[in-house]
Amino acid sequence: MSTFQAPKGTYDLLPPDSARYLAVREAIAAPLRDSGYGYIETPGFEDVELFARGVGESTDIVTKEMYAFETKGGSRLALRPEGTASVLRAALEANLHKAGNLPVKLWYSGSYYRYERPQKGRYRHFSQVGAEAIGTEDPALDAELIILADQAYRSLGLRNFRILLNSLGDKECRPAYREALQGFLRGLELDEDTRRRIEINPLRVLDDKRTEVQRRLTGAPMLRDYLCDGCKAYHEEVRALLAAAGVAFEDDEKLVRGLDYYTRTTFEFVHDGLGSQSAVGGGGRYDGLSEMIGGPALPSVGWALGVDRTVLALEAEGVELDLPRSTSVYAVPLGEEARRVLFGVVTELRRGGVAADFGFGGKGLKGAMKNANRSGARYALVAGERDLAEGVVQLKDMESGEQQAVELATVVSELRSRLG
Ligand code: AMP
Repeated sequence: MSTFQAPKGTYDLLPPDSARYLAVREAIAAPLRDSGYGYIETPGFEDVELFARGVGESTDIVTKEMYAFETKGGSRLALRPEGTASVLRAALEANLHKAGNLPVKLWYSGSYYRYERPQKGRYRHFSQVGAEAIGTEDPALDAELIILADQAYRSLGLRNFRILLNSLGDKECRPAYREALQGFLRGLELDEDTRRRIEINPLRVLDDKRTEVQRRLTGAPMLRDYLCDGCKAYHEEVRALLAAAGVAFEDDEKLVRGLDYYTRTTFEFVHDGLGSQSAVGGGGRYDGLSEMIGGPALPSVGWALGVDRTVLALEAEGVELDLPRSTSVYAVPLGEEARRVLFGVVTELRRGGVAADFGFGGKGLKGAMKNANRSGARYALVAGERDLAEGVVQLKDMESGEQQAVELATVVSELRSRLG
């Protein structure tokens, strides 16, 4: 071990486990790519104000969890705690919304940072794949995103997840509800922190995880009873489209989510094998966010799925991903001359699209065959002086154990045809 360790709340992705993370990212991205979403990458840090205004001044993310710092040049920046505000900022900056092709559909994948109390499934550095559809108000777009996330999870083999769905209303109907809820909450006996939250963001009190708080909330006014006709019809349409697609969901009137920018549709994907950190992904509509960060009105919807928690969910369900072998052929040279010849064969195999690796460092046969085994290769190529003198190499099928001599001149084409 060195003097240094990974910082608290972080961990390193190492082989062979790291292959599963790549596969999860790929599985989430695939349905998006096939549905018209283009890849976007934004910087790992932004002006701290973007998140303060976008995510919300009163949210835990902004008040407690942001890695904010001042640069030598005096700029106030923050490591990104989430993706939506950055993606919208980038889209507005590049005028993607003016190219006459709304919605602007984008997907991304990257690292996010929150100064949280670390525990299983909750880290200070984590990884998300996200999708945003910017500039269009259409219930089919909300439904599309939920269906694509469902498809991604299912393609990985996940089954024990649930989709929670809610509508948070819009700027027309939410204020009246907010006031009614505040009236109700002010009459309750609650701790000081929560009382403060009543004044800043009362809806957040609804999804307080503490049972004693939940007990007091019985009889609280529900947003459902305050939704305006527009929001009601919109929500019904999202629900109908999901039902028609055969995607099961649960109505959860207390689903508020920890970011202030949501309007109308909100949803969360929860997995029942994860204990307290059960949300594997979440998202919703954010019709007001563009204006909050100085842009034009651009109704939008998006989600972010957590890669770390999706991997934990796969483990919880005992799902083994069908990962492709990383090495198909492993070459074991015995002696100097064989090293040169087999290294040439390996290079040729690689250029021909065959995944191949090589016994470096002049190990003996036993040690090199051990490495060949570990590599998971289907075939080993072994050659010593006598083989080379005869113009052959030994081709060993690592599954059956069978070995045969193959002409050196034809071994590459032989392997390519065997590996299909
Ligand atoms: P959020 O933007 O908070 O809704 O996060 C979306 C998803 O990202 C969550 O459902 C988690 O899967 C993942 N996520 C958020 N925060 C963390 C964290 N601290 N550690 C690991 N995953 C996280």
